[in-house]
Amino acid sequence: MTTLAQVLGEHTREGELYERYGADGVRCFACGHCCRIPDGGAGVCKVRFNRGGTLMVPWGYVSGLHCDPIEKKPFFHAFPGGNAYSFGMLGCDLHCSYCQNWVTSQALRDPEAVSSAFEITPAEMVHDALLQGADAIVSTYNEPLITTEWAVAIFRQARAAGLATGYVSNGNATPQVLDYLLPWLDLFKIDLKGFDDRRYRELGGRLQPVLDTIAAVHRSGTWVEIVTLLVPGFNDSAEELAQLAGFLASVSPDIPWHVTAFHPDYKLTETPRTTTDLLLHAVEIGRRAGLRFVYAGNIPGAVGDLENTRCPSCAKVLVRRAGFSVRENQITTSGTCPACGYAVPGRWTRKPRMS
Ligand code: SF4
Repeated sequence: MTTLAQVLGEHTREGELYERYGADGVRCFACGHCCRIPDGGAGVCKVRFNRGGTLMVPWGYVSGLHCDPIEKKPFFHAFPGGNAYSFGMLGCDLHCSYCQNWVTSQALRDPEAVSSAFEITPAEMVHDALLQGADAIVSTYNEPLITTEWAVAIFRQARAAGLATGYVSNGNATPQVLDYLLPWLDLFKIDLKGFDDRRYRELGGRLQPVLDTIAAVHRSGTWVEIVTLLVPGFNDSAEELAQLAGFLASVSPDIPWHVTAFHPDYKLTETPRTTTDLLLHAVEIGRRAGLRFVYAGNIPGAVGDLENTRCPSCAKVLVRRAGFSVRENQITTSGTCPACGYAVPGRWTRKPRMS
């Protein structure tokens, strides 16, 4: 029987984010692990591997395609009510025990994670995205940094067709991958999973590369929103949340911060769900740190006004939401509050489409 690893091994091409060392070693720069890979070996992510001194990377397939509300990514300051044509690949550079996409992210590590893949071209994806009325094409469902060459091939064609482009990522990037990716990226959602390096290492990563990524993406002008899944007992202390929110505010108080509720998943099945009170407490900490846009997610209908966007200047409700659904959008076409003229940070104007 052909294994998934064998199928994926046939859907590759030479990567661009690497250097050679020694006779036939390679060093990959697609994520913060910067793996040194001997001939015949694979990186931590399992999807990039060394074949005879050449780094081979995923190419020409996806494992999932869906047109989702852009609020589901979540992007709350980009094209409200818009459609995000979302594609997923397989694999991840981390191994979070509470991953909510573990079937795709851990497909090459965990025999319980049964996934499949199908061939597709960038042109076919862009054509389909336009047919479905998408506003953006977004790499999501698994960690996109590890398949960045393939994403950029898609994004080049998406941009030419008038689509915005996005990543939903853990942010474990390198300067090299950001230099390669950001010229083609409009929207970047980054998980900031806590503010404790020891905890990050339990998940298979490190805190500092994620902080560096957030600062670099913001500096570049690419739109960035941050998500923190609040896991009881893991990252929910008031002190840690205050440090995390303080860091975000130091980068920019205009960065939206989504604090979202955990539900038991994958290997973390004994931990209780995040309560509404804990979410509200985290929101309050974010506001005290100076963040202007703090949202509470994953408990729709239970968090009052915290799914809406309010003008920081006059407090008018600008975008009213119920879960991922936009019920009202008052932001002007020039991105301002209609009541007081405050310029609301985000990406509000859609690009002209290729017909
Ligand atoms: S993407 Fe990250 S984990 Fe995968 S090979 Fe490259 S550096 Fe290693």
